[in-house]
Amino acid sequence: MTILTVLQEPDPRLRKSSRHIDSIDHEIRRLARDMLDTMYHRGGCGLAAPQVNTRLRLIVIDTSSRADSPLILVNPVIENRSARMMRFAEGCLSVPDLTAKMHRPAEIVISALDLAGRQMELEASGWLGAVIQHEIDHLNGRLLTDALSPKDRSRYFKGHRSRR
Ligand code: ZN
Repeated sequence: MTILTVLQEPDPRLRKSSRHIDSIDHEIRRLARDMLDTMYHRGGCGLAAPQVNTRLRLIVIDTSSRADSPLILVNPVIENRSARMMRFAEGCLSVPDLTAKMHRPAEIVISALDLAGRQMELEASGWLGAVIQHEIDHLNGRLLTDALSPKDRSRYFKGHRSRR
């Protein structure tokens, strides 16, 4: 089992956009396995490759209550979003001690490849939909702290520095 280091805000590496994966080789499969190990170890329900300092469009997710249903998405793209919105309180392994209420489309349709390189389409709603959108945000350098008001953001960074 390999536990990777998870980068934390305000690390500028979390702000870069990630690259499309051209071929799903041994390295990518190993990265996905290590990311799942890291996510389960840290008690998260999702992790994106840039969080472990790899700028590739790969995310892993498990929203099951028993943490036994991993979902691995390569090059995920949101193809469709509902007009209806939902709001969930989200946390992030890269943004410790913060829960932010995020307003997102309630249903999405995504396309992605699985680890065998097969194209898939997935409809997701509720918590799973929120987690997928959260992880895709990471691939584009977006973080929960972006949703805070300027005042809350500066309070978060000040508070977090003093707790370290
Ligand atoms: Zn996150």
